[in-house]
Amino acid sequence: SRSEAEARRDEAALTRDGTRIAVMINVAGLADLADLPAKACDGIGLTRTEFLVEHALRDEARQFETYAGLLRWAAGRPVTIRTLDAGGDKPISGYTIAGEANPFLGLRGIRLSLRHPEIFRVQLRALARAAALGPLKIMLPMVTMAQELEQARALLDAVLAELAAEGVAHSAPALGIMVEVPAAAMAIAGFDAAFFSIGSNDLTQYATAAARDGSEVATYADVLHPGVLAMIGHVARHGAEVGREVSLCGDAGGDPRAIAALLRAGVRAVSVSPGLLAQAKAAIRDVDLSERKPSA
Ligand code: PEP
Ligand code: MG
Repeated sequence: SRSEAEARRDEAALTRDGTRIAVMINVAGLADLADLPAKACDGIGLTRTEFLVEHALRDEARQFETYAGLLRWAAGRPVTIRTLDAGGDKPISGYTIAGEANPFLGLRGIRLSLRHPEIFRVQLRALARAAALGPLKIMLPMVTMAQELEQARALLDAVLAELAAEGVAHSAPALGIMVEVPAAAMAIAGFDAAFFSIGSNDLTQYATAAARDGSEVATYADVLHPGVLAMIGHVARHGAEVGREVSLCGDAGGDPRAIAALLRAGVRAVSVSPGLLAQAKAAIRDVDLSERKPSA
């Protein structure tokens, strides 16, 4: 029941057969943490910075304060912060391209950040400085090609050298990628990322050719489509093989109808909105991974 689930919200999530599943949270800023103790989760798996950065594109101090606040709240747990994912469903006036015929297939996420290195650098500096305060991880959105990861790494390295030369406290954060473009998911072994986080919202919409928020086609945009699950399984297997963390931070991670299939596909970490923590953990406790069931 709902109250039983709520009562166990702060306990670790284990499947029936005792497999520990990390459950982290998705946030957009400090306000999302107001009533939540950090012990309720295994850290922050996704920070959407569009809301924050929209009004602080060139304001390193303001960005730093927010990232530092997230780390303080997490008290030693990992804090994953995604670089600006503007474009698509998240336009920022004066930054994203107006009037693209198809913004979801246009200049968004890391594509746009690499077009605006002067703005990207501000965020990377704020992130590298905050990383001195705790386990901060940088996550790049909408990565399609390995060069994008390498270009971002080069920019990050330059920023780290610059901070060192200035004598400013900083640390090198782990650099990982969102896996939400089907071509990247299928070619995942070509990406030398420290960790992978499956963005099932976008991965599903791109793989099924059905808009993530389109009510007319909602039945098509299904994370349980065998083609989508096959990609998730492929990424999970790759992560296990090379010993790098794979999590899933799309809405499906908090969906009781999807959780069993995701775990069977190999997912061992999810990140969900704070309001779904209790429900997600309850759904995980219902899954028995030792049962033989057809899997993806
Ligand atoms: C996703 O695409 O699944 C995701 C987590 O990112 P966003 O919803 O912010 O696009
Ligand atoms: Mg996305």
